[in-house]
Amino acid sequence: MDSTDSWLLSRVGARLLTASAGGLAGWWAGRFIGYPLTLGMTAAAAAVLALSVADTLKGHRLLDWLRTPEANPPALPGLWGEVGHRVQRVIQVKDDLIADERARLQEFLSAIDASPNGVLLLDATDHINWISSMAADHFGLNPERDLQQRVTNLVRHPAFVQYLSAGDYRDAVKCQMGHGTQGVLQIQIRSYGDGLKLVLSQDITERERADTMRRDFVANVSHEIRTPLTVLNGFIETLGSLPLTEVERKRVITLMAQQADRMQILVSDLLTLAQIEGSPRPSSDKWINVDALMLRIETDGKALSRERHPMHVTLETQGKHYEMAGVESEWLSAMGNLVSNAVRYTPEGAAIDVRWALLPGGGAEFSVKDGGIGIAPEHIPRLTERFYRVDGSRSRDTGGTGLGLSIVKHVVQRHGGELRISSEPGKGSTFTLTVPAARVRQV
Ligand code: ADP
Repeated sequence: MDSTDSWLLSRVGARLLTASAGGLAGWWAGRFIGYPLTLGMTAAAAAVLALSVADTLKGHRLLDWLRTPEANPPALPGLWGEVGHRVQRVIQVKDDLIADERARLQEFLSAIDASPNGVLLLDATDHINWISSMAADHFGLNPERDLQQRVTNLVRHPAFVQYLSAGDYRDAVKCQMGHGTQGVLQIQIRSYGDGLKLVLSQDITERERADTMRRDFVANVSHEIRTPLTVLNGFIETLGSLPLTEVERKRVITLMAQQADRMQILVSDLLTLAQIEGSPRPSSDKWINVDALMLRIETDGKALSRERHPMHVTLETQGKHYEMAGVESEWLSAMGNLVSNAVRYTPEGAAIDVRWALLPGGGAEFSVKDGGIGIAPEHIPRLTERFYRVDGSRSRDTGGTGLGLSIVKHVVQRHGGELRISSEPGKGSTFTLTVPAARVRQV
């Protein structure tokens, strides 16, 4: 016999005792009026009746409480009080269990919500059960308002609608992001449970852009190399098949050397770009003497110009001497590229001014100002793109690869500075590199 049974027996016993006590009292009182048995039984029945009326009332109060069991149960004596107490305990245990499960579910959803991928949960009829904040962003949905809506009423991109309805989810599908932005999404659906669907979305805009850039780059490089190679092949055929005079032979060989040079410059620029892109950020404790650097730039520039342009090199440092931090070969390449462009795009006789000056707020700037052909405003934002040229034939004729300004931009950005371009067609251009204060010091 367990504790509940013995407790119940004691309660039943107490009730029997009360009825018996009532009966005995009636029997004792009945002796004085001559009806001990009648009065005894009546009193016992009255006691049982009173007890059951009291029980009904208590049971009713307990039922009332059970309809809305949020508060404490009514304070009832005896059996009903015990029942109320125990029911409350069972409810409390269940409530705690539900709260625990809710907290775990919330934790789980928060973890999914923290994912960089978007997640949509769909029911068997493609109505939305849950939307992660990233998915809301990707598809342009509202995580609360759009719940229980059919997903295809809100995400109408044909590629997605077709993918969802086709039911073959082995491969992912690409489509445009919501909000009419230019972003690209990769969407993958996984089925689970009884016809439920998990929709995963990933923003692949950057990856797509990088892929396009890589493809364009390879196409551009191939194109740049194919032209001189075709010319070279033509000359090789000529040399092999035609009887040439010594003068003609020399001319062909000179032209062949020019094409080979062109390929060599291109390969060298490509290597420089690859090396800059692949190496870590330049340290700021390798110092380069600015006087020596500018002297080298001047010598190279003048050699390139061959006295065709008046070239002035100025150092605005109030007679003091400075150093710049970074990779010397990179700074030389960036500055040299600007001077070389000025020489190549400036007609004979027009001046070129090269200047290194301290900036009032710290730091310095290097600028090359030419009186050359200038650049129309619509080209300026694109000049630093690889292989972008305003006039392709002029660039190639002067030994240009279309990579110079992308090298310059990379170098400057790696050193924490920026490249500024101002130009006016027919009047000339100024290219300016800034050097951050942390990379300039007086010696
Ligand atoms: P390129 O090898 O063709 O000169 P760059 O990347 O150095 O390649 O320059 C990109 C384009 O910017 C050039 O093709 C040219 O059209 C233009 N450009 C660069 N510098 C100048 C300049 N100083 N004056 C006029 N145009 C310039």
